[in-house]
Amino acid sequence: MSYKTDIEIAREANKLPIQEIGAKLGIDSKDLLPYGHDKAKVSQEYINSVQGNENGKLILVTAINPTPAGEGKTTTTVGLGDGLNRIGKKAAVCIREASLGPNFGMKGGAAGGGYAQVVPMEEMNLHFTGDFHAITSAHSLLSAMIDNHIYWGNELEIDVRRVAWRRVVDMNDRALRQITASLGGVSNGFPRETGFDITVASEVMAILCLATNLSDLQKRLGDIIVAYRRDRSPVFCRDIQADGAMTVLLKDAMQPNLVQTLENNPAFVHGGPFANIAHGCNSVIATTTALKIADYVVTEAGFGADLGAEKFMNIKCRKAGLAPDCVVLVATVRAMKMNGGVAKADLGAENVDAVNEGCANLGRHIGNLKSFGVPVVVAINHFVTDTDAEVQAVKDYVASQGSEAILSQHWEHGSKGSEALATRVAEIADSGISQFAPIYEDDMPLFEKVETIAKRIYHADEVIADKKIRDQLKIWEEQGYGNLPVCMAKTQYSFSTDPTQRGAPVGHSVPVREVRLSAGAGFIVVVCGDIMTMPGLPRNPAAKTIQLNDDGQIEGLF
Ligand code: ADP
Ligand code: MG
Repeated sequence: MSYKTDIEIAREANKLPIQEIGAKLGIDSKDLLPYGHDKAKVSQEYINSVQGNENGKLILVTAINPTPAGEGKTTTTVGLGDGLNRIGKKAAVCIREASLGPNFGMKGGAAGGGYAQVVPMEEMNLHFTGDFHAITSAHSLLSAMIDNHIYWGNELEIDVRRVAWRRVVDMNDRALRQITASLGGVSNGFPRETGFDITVASEVMAILCLATNLSDLQKRLGDIIVAYRRDRSPVFCRDIQADGAMTVLLKDAMQPNLVQTLENNPAFVHGGPFANIAHGCNSVIATTTALKIADYVVTEAGFGADLGAEKFMNIKCRKAGLAPDCVVLVATVRAMKMNGGVAKADLGAENVDAVNEGCANLGRHIGNLKSFGVPVVVAINHFVTDTDAEVQAVKDYVASQGSEAILSQHWEHGSKGSEALATRVAEIADSGISQFAPIYEDDMPLFEKVETIAKRIYHADEVIADKKIRDQLKIWEEQGYGNLPVCMAKTQYSFSTDPTQRGAPVGHSVPVREVRLSAGAGFIVVVCGDIMTMPGLPRNPAAKTIQLNDDGQIEGLF
């Protein structure tokens, strides 16, 4: 049997005008700012007007450590949202926007897959409503104003060797990772080393995704540390006086985007910060708005649960006062098999032993999530090659961990395939059994916060850090940043910092290479391992075959 590709299915979608989607949540068409017929921003005035409403139930979708087999968090988020609507619930999904640059490297989209997708998927993966362009512009304005300030006399006494603010572009361009700027003579300024990151790695992105309203946005932008003086004192964005103009550039981008699923249910797609040097979730404003107008909100966190869910709970929920009512942990039989040692090429053959072997990774995530006080359901995202015996093996294992696993076939059948999952998730969310709490307090010393995550979530024995790093954390504590959460940046492929250690490793150490203060976003990034903030293109980038066909449709993107 052959299956249609994601793009073929997306093109066949019977989309409704976006006003009809808004109406499902009670949003009047005057409160929608349409971008074409199938996308709209929800107005700030409307968002302000629903603040008195009660919150709906919040459901987080996360996953085991990713393998090249693919897990399907977004697909499951969308499928579960449609499933909830199918059983008569007023549900919305909240997911991230896609970064444009990486789509031209390798094929792949961020809008779900099969019969669980958000549309219009091509636009969502390209320019969409221009939010990322606005972020690039706001970031670039600050970059330009810093060098301009230095050029006109450097009244703030910025040490040009210690400018922390880099530049960004939404393109995979390794040539820009490290550059020398201001070359070419006196009229071009003072030459200095700098570099580019991809837009989604900008602190402006993290700020936009954590800000609760426009004045909070401006305050956080002002708090960004852009450089240091010779005496090491920080220079802030507000000292450069860029925060006001940056807020102007971001005014529209702050409003969440409404689109629809293939089954015409509401989906908010807004913001998309990196999941390593940032927290990896869609915007707070999209999630909190959705909670005010839908009874159930299904949202996704990036990477595996050790990074994504941990940050969702310890950073996003803490900052925004949110509490998940149920967590859905996505697992696939294929990923269990890979964790159990099967090579990608051999995934097609039944191998129950490998499934059993690989379940250790799943088991640890279940235990970790429960330690946040939240109820956990495992969603087995069904691939058509999975056998009944393999699926049963996962179910039995999960039952032995005191949890439950439900097979979900949304990829193949849409909401018809996710009805069982949706029914159970709604039941759990409604039961009110969640007793969510972050796993560390605000006032815990910064290094202890890192140790808490390393020991309780990664099950490491110790955290290793040079005196220089520990001293830096102490200085930040003295400067009043000690109450911030920590944002761990490590490989997504393992609980440890070694990407080849699958399963549930124990006895490992977590070496901290570097710490960075994101004072505007409001967290301290703890870098453990190689973290790439400007990707490159592969030898044969997808861009070579991306083109328009005779009907004006995009080919080669998915
Ligand atoms: P994640 O959000 O975890 O990165 P996605 O939901 O974006 O994963 O899915 C990644 C890819 O895997 C998509 O191209 C999607 O079509 C595919 N995929 C997801 N679930 C299934 C499934 N059950 N069967 C086949 N392909 C799937
Ligand atoms: Mg995803």
